[in-house]
Amino acid sequence: MNDCVFCGIAAGKIPSKKIFEDDEIFAFHDIDPKAPTHFLVIPKRHIENLMECGAEDEALLGKLLVKAQETAKDLGCGESGARFVINCKSGAGQTVGHLHIHVLGGRELKWPPG
Ligand code: 5GP
Ligand code: ZN
Repeated sequence: MNDCVFCGIAAGKIPSKKIFEDDEIFAFHDIDPKAPTHFLVIPKRHIENLMECGAEDEALLGKLLVKAQETAKDLGCGESGARFVINCKSGAGQTVGHLHIHVLGGRELKWPPG
């Protein structure tokens, strides 16, 4: 049985503040936002992390990025900008083992993130 929380959210079995969905991807607000705007864009299909992807995933990855930036603009980040982050594996801060793009905006973001 798949007990992945993001699979549950994508399937509508776990509640979330949904922003967008189609047959392949799902976008929703982060439950613990680190910025005034902080949402996640995920594939509905379970992919553990970015390093599991191959050439067969190129179209899906492109679609995730395009939707991420479109949604950032829809939510008011078009002028000020936004940060698009993919944490990959625990050493890089990944806590949920289902590929997700973080989109953060609405405040000044320092670099490097630490
Ligand atoms: P990671 O640390 O894996 O890059 O990011 C996981 C993100 O998912 C975190 O920012 C965390 O707040 C968010 N998150 C974890 N569980 C849930 C949940 O059940 N619902 C929502 N909306 N976000 C979640
Ligand atoms: Zn999953």
